[in-house]
Amino acid sequence: MDCIFCQIVAGKIPGEILYQDEEVIAFRDINPQAPAHLIIIPKRHIPSLVHLSEAESSLIGHMVSIANQLAKREGVSESGYRLVINCGEQGGQLVPHLHLHLLGGRKLSDTLG
Ligand code: 5GP
Ligand code: ZN
Repeated sequence: MDCIFCQIVAGKIPGEILYQDEEVIAFRDINPQAPAHLIIIPKRHIPSLVHLSEAESSLIGHMVSIANQLAKREGVSESGYRLVINCGEQGGQLVPHLHLHLLGGRKLSDTLG
C-alpha cells in the first residue's frame, strides 16, 4: 500500500494524531495553510468523493462531527473555520485518499478559488 494516508493510519509514517476511533483518524497537516489545519480521514482507503457509495455517505457526517469537536479543541469554534473536501484533479486533490480539511485561526479568503 503506497498511499501516504494509509501509511499514517498504519503507523508506518509519523503523523500528529489528534483523534481516532474505529472509522476515522485526524492529524495535523504537514504543510499548514492556517494556524489550525487538520486532516480528517476514513481509516479505510476510499480514493475520493467519487468513490463514496450512497451506503457510505453517513461517513461524511461522522467526519464533520469529529471536525466540529476538533475545532472546539483547537479554539477556533467561536472565531470560525472552514471545512473543505477537494475531489479530483481540478478540485485540487493531491492525496488520493478521501480527506476533510479543517482550516481556522486566521481570516480565510472570501473566494472559493
Ligand atoms: P489535498 O490537496 O489532496 O486536498 O490535500 C492534501 C493535504 O495533505 C495537503 O494539505 C498536504 O499538506 C497534506 N499532506 C501531504 N502529505 C502529508 C503527510 O505525509 N503528512 C501529513 N500530516 N500531511 C500531509
Ligand atoms: Zn489510503
